[in-house]
Amino acid sequence: MNPRQALLRQLPSVDSLLQTASLQAAVAEFGREQVKQHVRQALADWRDSLEKDGSDAALELHKDKLLDLLSQRVLHALQLSAAPILRPVINLTGTVLHTNLGRARLPEQACQVLQSLGGQSCNLEYDLETGKRGDRDSHLQQELCRLTGAQAVTIVNNNAAAVLLVLNTLARDKEVLISRGELVEIGGSFRIPAVMEAAQACLHEVGTTNRTHLQDYREAINAATGLLMKVHTSNYAVQGFTASVSEQDLASLAAEHELPFVSDLGSGTLIDLQRFGLPPEPTVRSVLEAGADIVTFSGDKLLGGVQAGIIAGRADLIQRIKANPLKRALRVDKLTLAALLEVLKLYRDPERLPEKLPFLRDVSRSESSIREQAQQILPALRENLGPDVAIEMRETRSQIGSGALPLDLLPSAALVIRPEPKAGGADAALTRLAAAFRQLSTPVIGRIHDGEFWLDLRCLDDSQALLDLLPELSAQACA
Ligand SMILES: *Cc1c(COP(=O)(O)O)cnc(C)c1O
Repeated sequence: MNPRQALLRQLPSVDSLLQTASLQAAVAEFGREQVKQHVRQALADWRDSLEKDGSDAALELHKDKLLDLLSQRVLHALQLSAAPILRPVINLTGTVLHTNLGRARLPEQACQVLQSLGGQSCNLEYDLETGKRGDRDSHLQQELCRLTGAQAVTIVNNNAAAVLLVLNTLARDKEVLISRGELVEIGGSFRIPAVMEAAQACLHEVGTTNRTHLQDYREAINAATGLLMKVHTSNYAVQGFTASVSEQDLASLAAEHELPFVSDLGSGTLIDLQRFGLPPEPTVRSVLEAGADIVTFSGDKLLGGVQAGIIAGRADLIQRIKANPLKRALRVDKLTLAALLEVLKLYRDPERLPEKLPFLRDVSRSESSIREQAQQILPALRENLGPDVAIEMRETRSQIGSGALPLDLLPSAALVIRPEPKAGGADAALTRLAAAFRQLSTPVIGRIHDGEFWLDLRCLDDSQALLDLLPELSAQACA
């Protein structure tokens, strides 16, 4: 028997590990099942490593030491797995509404309501005055009708669901007239033709990619037409020799034929964002005033709230939409609703929105304040990354993201890091650097561009939080 086999043979049993003082304590904290599972895993890993490359050090381990070592590993694994699975990260990608990072950050008021409501029952569908069953949409309706001028609203899981539900309710087995220039794809999985099909509506394209006229719609209307639709081309711009039909004209044409006119706004802003230096975007109110019967929009794009799809418009149509069984399948949870309501309340005082709503705070930050912040962080970054790493502040442009206002619009400042190529070359050094930032106790997410690592500081509202993390870097980044 070689020494390795001997060691395998005297591997402690699951039970002997469970008897150790530290794992007894772990059982009390995490429960027997979970600890046992991790003990089995630790033993299997140990056996694997012995069989693969069991180093001499491992071979010499005394049995008691081995018990110690394995129970330490089990404890470590238990602690790691007990940490929350979704964790906060610092978004320095330069994309304010980053879909992979959860889009909009919520304002304080919304976080508080989530905290206080999460563990409690609430009046979600219960009328506290009458003691009778209520309607979960009613809370939202009050707030949103005032903000948008809509007669009624309802809410579903996201805007894709909103479009699906509207089409399925109002145009099932009927034709939907839509301009060829508006057959958009948003982030791969949402494509107007595919949603149309899923909703069991028939797509009827009118006009051409760059130019569509009112006459095109007029000529396309037939006995099978269910509705007229306009999709806001929120994530791209058609430029040059173009023509599209205004909401007003489409609304009048639809009314002439007693057909609903539906506008999918996508980004859905509730106030004119030009006052915060952003380019013009149609507001939900302006599209309803132009005559749209139904408008659909997202809760977590330019609105700056939670993932949700809002359907606003004519009361009789909203009534039909709410009666569709799909509505039940797509409805939102109480926490989504509670957070969105708090976000909407902030819109009662639009002047102070940029102070209160993180999304607007981020997009309305001046370049000079971001630059100042970069100057302040630069020395600490230099100190912690060491002399081999070139770091400088550069101008950049942040983008809003999530298909809302497609262009890189917002002048910003970034800290740009060029690591010294060592083992594996420049690419490997860059990858290691980005990984080191991701492995900080609060992960920091930047972006790799042109052989450099960019940290756009637009969304960093707490400089100190980043400064506090930097000392962890020197330990690992250049290791
Ligand atoms: C973003 C977008 C959608 C999808 O909205 P989600 O809330 O991401 O589901 C649909 N239509 C348009 C025009 C959009 O911009």
